[in-house]
Amino acid sequence: MTALVIAEHDNQSLKGATLNTVTAAAACGGDVHVLVAGHNAGEVAKAASQIAGVAKVIHADGASLADGLAENLAAQVLGLAGDYSHILFPSTAGGKNVAPRVAAKLDVAQVSDITKVVSADTFERPIYAGNAIATVQSGDAKKVLTVRTTGFDAAPATGGSAAIETKDAVADSGKSAFVGREVSKSDRPELTAAKIIVSGGRALGSSEKFQEVLTPLADKLGAAIGASRAAVDAGYAPNDLQVGQTGKIVAPQLYVALGISGAIQHLAGMKDSKVIVAINKDPEAPIFSVADYGLEADLFVSVAEMLELL
Ligand SMILES: Cc1cc2nc3c(=O)[nH]c(=O)nc-3n(C[C@H](O)[C@H](O)[C@H](O)COP(=O)(O)OP(=O)(O)OC[C@H]3O[C@@H](n4cnc5c(N)ncnc54)[C@H](O)[C@@H]3O)c2cc1C
Repeated sequence: MTALVIAEHDNQSLKGATLNTVTAAAACGGDVHVLVAGHNAGEVAKAASQIAGVAKVIHADGASLADGLAENLAAQVLGLAGDYSHILFPSTAGGKNVAPRVAAKLDVAQVSDITKVVSADTFERPIYAGNAIATVQSGDAKKVLTVRTTGFDAAPATGGSAAIETKDAVADSGKSAFVGREVSKSDRPELTAAKIIVSGGRALGSSEKFQEVLTPLADKLGAAIGASRAAVDAGYAPNDLQVGQTGKIVAPQLYVALGISGAIQHLAGMKDSKVIVAINKDPEAPIFSVADYGLEADLFVSVAEMLELL
């Protein structure tokens, strides 16, 4: 029994989600191999070989794999699938784009967003926006899994010394072409990797206030900034900051929710945070039911006070 993890990377560095996925793969019970499919991604393959617990890295390098096009990457994975009992992708936009193609071509049912490996064929996954946990047993010969990274600790990035085997990259499928990419640049930590997140809701009232209140606090705490969907829909914050069921799933050490009511769709994205602090002027706000520390107050006053103390 051997599991194949599809590495998440940008051809230069290995993304943290890969480490959590390796932990999930190890829990399936056999050896863990990692596929690094990219272009000029030698450094990524090297980094993958150093992950503790990885027995082998397969490095496929070529122009067809430069931009993570789902058709080409799925073909690369399918070429290797015969050797593996489990194929695991991080449950990121990239992983979720490729895994269903692999599962469909293998004619197996994908098990999505697993948060626990019970045994080699049985997995837990949240349903109903995280309000219930389903235990799913797969009877398929090969398991194609996407892994909710917040459900698994990151495997140590160093300590391993796996062999790197090179494979030819698949030919370009010709079905899709990479047109362009707009990457938002920020000095802040990335939302899904941040240890501290300061998040703002509808109560902020405008994009100017959102910036004015959250930025200094996030700067002081070295935090990433998040937002509720209401704040995003109202244009106070960009879409990629949204936390929740239809946004990003996060589990930082500290999550500070400012003027966020705590709708189930928001909680679905952050309730696994280690410590939750909520400031809300409504004592009945549902966010207080998950908060470790709740402050019933006007956020504009209390954030200013917090900044003075910090
Ligand atoms: C299919 C679906 C998917 C969704 N996905 C998401 C998702 O991914 N993420 C998400 O966040 N939402 C999501 N939603 C929306 C969700 O249901 C809520 O509408 C949204 O989370 C509310 O955002 P909010 O808490 O900022 O706003 P509100 O619910 O309006 O809450 C604002 C809060 O601010 C408090 N407040 C007001 N003024 C102050 C002040 N001065 N000081 C302190 N507190 C103050 C109020 O008491 C209130 O509790 C989804 C909804 C649907 C139907």
